[in-house]
Order: sequence, then structure tokens, then C-alpha cells
Amino acid sequence: MIMEVNVVKNKGKILKVSVKDISAGFANALRRVAYSEIPVMAVDYVDITVNNSGLVDEILAHRLAMIPLKWPNGYQLSEECKCGGKGCSNCTAKLRLKKNGPSTVYSGDMESDDKHVQPDDMKIPIAELLEGQNVDLVAVARLGIGKNHAKHQAATIGYSKGGGGFTFNIESTTGLSGADVFIRALDIIEERAKEFAKLVRKEL
Ligand SMILES: [Zn+2]
Repeated sequence: MIMEVNVVKNKGKILKVSVKDISAGFANALRRVAYSEIPVMAVDYVDITVNNSGLVDEILAHRLAMIPLKWPNGYQLSEECKCGGKGCSNCTAKLRLKKNGPSTVYSGDMESDDKHVQPDDMKIPIAELLEGQNVDLVAVARLGIGKNHAKHQAATIGYSKGGGGFTFNIESTTGLSGADVFIRALDIIEERAKEFAKLVRKEL
């Protein structure tokens, strides 16, 4: 049998694709890599100057961490960055959030120092501010992987078997498209196999 790929649906966050002639082991590896190993940008640290909203600091920080972000290529994982993980413009983006009540604070109220790093949806409500309530904070976003924290999970992905192949259902949970998630997962597997082959060759 020859490997055969059929795109059933490719619409924004959703990708449905059937693949023939791959093993169950490979399908499972692809699924695992797609949700746990693709670097995804999310708010990782929040420096709060003012918060007298109804939300305690921890809840406010958690809500910010769960907002899906869009980001451009080129960001480094902090642990692989030349700053040594301290955080610099190559590995982190800062989003300032300053708002006074009475008002609703939305994801779109965050002002990013990199205009390409933005909430994927500008209308996610974060907090309700009453008269006299204010928030002023800086959220620091960086890349991470789902294996370490769910906020960096790229997608929900599952597959079903039938017709001699696997049908993958991918739904991106970040600023990436479903197709991006699929391709990036395959790239990671390819890189890993190359690295593996290099090490094996060295030993033989
Ligand atoms: Zn850095």
C-alpha cells in the first residue's frame, strides 16, 4: 500500500485529514506530539501594579494565561534563548493591561509591545470593573509546550480508524490554524528522527 493523504476539511482552527498506510504507533506519536510538544505562546508571568477588581491576583493571572494568543515565527523557547532564560525580546513579549472602571476588561484591551503578538480573540471578557476599580499590569508571554503546562497546549486532537487508515480530527486551541498544528507536529517528528539517526550513525 502507498501512503495516501486526503484532506476532508481544512477551515481555520479545524483540520480533518485521513491518512492511509501509517501504523497505529505512528498515528499515536503524531497525536501526542501535536498536543504536547508544539511550542505555543501564552502568558507565563504577570507583574501586577494595581488590582482592586473583584478578582484576586492569582485568578486574574490565571485568566490571562488561558487567553489564546497569535504570535509570529522567530520567537525562541526561553530555555534555548541566548538570554539564558531570563527573558528578552527574542523569547518574550509584554502585554500591558491598564483599565479603569466602570467597565468590562477584554482581552483586546491588552497592548502588546510586539504588534504581532495579540490575543486570538479580542472579545474574551477578563474582569468586570466597578466605579473606582482599576487594573494595571504587565503580562509576560513566552513559548512553552503542552507537556509542561496545559496553557501551552496547541490543540485537541483525536483519530478514528476505518477504510484501512486513520482520520485525524484536529482543533487548534491557540492562534495557530489546524493545518499549522498538523505540519508542525510532523516537522517535530522529522527533526527528532534526524537527530536520532545522527546519534546512531555516530555510534556505528
Ligand atoms: Zn531570551
